[in-house]
Amino acid sequence: NESIDYKEVDFGYNNRTETILEEASITINKGDKLALIGESGIGKSTFVKLLMRFWDVKGGTLTIDGKNIKEVATSSLRDSQTLVSQETFLFNESILDNIRLGNPKASKEEVIVAAKKASIHDFIMSLPHQYESRVGELGSSVSSGEKQRIGLARAFLRQSDVLILDEPTSNLDTLNESEILKAIKENSKEQTIVLISHRKSTTAICDKVYKLENKKLIQTV
Ligand code: ADP
Ligand code: ADP
Repeated sequence: NESIDYKEVDFGYNNRTETILEEASITINKGDKLALIGESGIGKSTFVKLLMRFWDVKGGTLTIDGKNIKEVATSSLRDSQTLVSQETFLFNESILDNIRLGNPKASKEEVIVAAKKASIHDFIMSLPHQYESRVGELGSSVSSGEKQRIGLARAFLRQSDVLILDEPTSNLDTLNESEILKAIKENSKEQTIVLISHRKSTTAICDKVYKLENKKLIQTV
């Protein structure tokens, strides 16, 4: 029964007087699809950064499978979690190789399968700045929405236990968003999902919705 437990967690950045979390508690069970909503700048990204141990909690405890996160090897944390952030970093190799970053051992076929799930397979041998986009603009660069698709394709290829999505569809219009959300849903049956979004349509694939408010997490659905 693997789970993530925030128990009365306090957190604030060292260089700031304002705290972000105060005695915030939440239990995330294996396979949960959890959405996290809340005002911009309230601390949603910070909340997931604690889970990836970019920062340590200041008070309370954060446990993973009953073990204090401070005693979990960073390498095993990084193996079990994948973050798709708003901004996907691309390097100057083919889209295929950019997706392969998600799992360097993957075969070309496996990369293509992941790319298809994210609908980014059309020009997979192109470089990011020579990408012929889906709307057929020759010689253009990948758009912000296409970058997000590449980030998601990486995550599909990785298949980690926990998938953290920070505004994964913020650069897609609603039609493209619903197509991508469907792919995420189909690809994440066993996976635990923590999805940050301020859009209601995005949280539709989640079965629990928590709001970060007054430095605590409150279940709304
Ligand atoms: P959200 O994801 O809800 O938009 P964030 O977690 O990104 O909010 O940020 C919460 C607050 O913490 C904001 O005021 C932000 O400016 C601040 N913040 C984020 N990262 C840092 C940091 N590394 N150092 C100091 N303050 C930070
Ligand atoms: P996100 O919402 O995805 O975290 P941001 O643009 O808010 O993206 O933050 C980008 C980076 O800058 C993050 O690593 C965050 O921790 C850091 N950051 C954000 N706000 C501040 C701040 N006020 N002071 C220092 N670092 C910050």
